[in-house]
Amino acid sequence: MRHLVFTVPGGASWPLPLYELALLATTFLAERHLVGVETTIVTPEDRPLALFGAGASAAVARMLAERGIELVTGRYPVEAAHGELTLAPSGTVLADLVVALPRLRGEPLDGIPHDADGFVPTDPHGRIAGLDDAYAAGDVTTFPVKQGGLAAQQARAVAEMIAADAGAPVTPQPFRPILRGLLLTGAEPAYLRTDLSRGPRHTTIALGEPIWWPPGKIVGRHLAPYLAERGGVVLAPPAGTTAVAVEVDLSTPLAVEH
Ligand SMILES: Cc1cc2nc3c(=O)[nH]c(=O)nc-3n(C[C@H](O)[C@H](O)[C@H](O)COP(=O)(O)OP(=O)(O)OC[C@H]3O[C@@H](n4cnc5c(N)ncnc54)[C@H](O)[C@@H]3O)c2cc1C
Repeated sequence: MRHLVFTVPGGASWPLPLYELALLATTFLAERHLVGVETTIVTPEDRPLALFGAGASAAVARMLAERGIELVTGRYPVEAAHGELTLAPSGTVLADLVVALPRLRGEPLDGIPHDADGFVPTDPHGRIAGLDDAYAAGDVTTFPVKQGGLAAQQARAVAEMIAADAGAPVTPQPFRPILRGLLLTGAEPAYLRTDLSRGPRHTTIALGEPIWWPPGKIVGRHLAPYLAERGGVVLAPPAGTTAVAVEVDLSTPLAVEH
C-alpha cells in the first residue's frame, strides 16, 4: 500500500484547493483502475471546510468518505520523513508522498505596520492602521481568509475610498466578506457561498448547478466576467438557472432579473 497525504498548514490560508486536489487525485486513480493507494487529508480545521459551516462540512465529509479518503482533523503537519508525516500536537500518519499548501507570511515593508506573520492591519475600508492615504487589500492584510474573491472585494472597498477622497460621487462601502468556493470534485462540482460577516447559517451549497454567474473559481465583480470571457464562458446565465450575478446582495429577499 502507498500512502498519499494532502495537508493544510497552520495559520491563515485558503484550504479548499487541498480538498479539491485530494478528490481529483482519487478520481484520477479510480479512472485508471490504480489500486493500492490510500489517500488522507490532514488539516488543523475541526471539520472539513469549516469556514463554510456545519452543513457544508457534512457534505464535504460525505464526498471524502465516498472516495475512501481518510480525514484527520485538528492536527498540524510538522515534518515528512521516513515514510511518515509527524503531526502537532501529536500523532503521525503514513506518508509516501505529501502535498502541502504553503504556509503564508507577509513580507514586511519599511514604514508599513504588520503583525507577527507580516500581515498588514487595515480597517473595513482597507485603510492601513495608523497611516494616512495608505491602503492594502488581499492576502497581505491581516484578514484571516486568503482568497482571490475576497481580495477582489477588498480591492473594491479600497477603490471606492480612493475615488471618494478624490471627489467622485460614491459612498464608500466597507468590505463585507462574501466567500464563494467552487470545489471541483471529479464528479459534479460543488458551489459554496457564505457571508462571513453573518456566520455559517448563511451558507448556500449546490451540487452541479452554479449559484453565481459567471461560475468561475476566482470571483470578483469585474474579474469574474473578465476571466470568463477569456475562458469562453457565455456571460449571460442560461435560461432557468438560479445563478445570480456576482455581487448581488442575497442577505435580504430580492427579485433577480437575468
Ligand atoms: C493552491 C492555491 C489555489 C488557490 N485557488 C484559488 C481559487 O480557486 N480561487 C480564489 O479566489 N483564490 C484561490 N487561491 C487564493 C488566491 O491565490 C489568493 O488569495 C490571491 O492570489 C490573493 O491575491 P493578492 O493580489 O492579494 O496577492 P497575490 O496574488 O499574491 O499578488 C501579489 C503580487 O505582488 C507581488 N509582489 C510581492 N512583493 C512585491 C514587492 N515588494 N514589489 C512588487 N511586487 C511584489 C507578487 O509577486 C504577486 O504577483 C488559491 C491559493 C492557492 C495557494
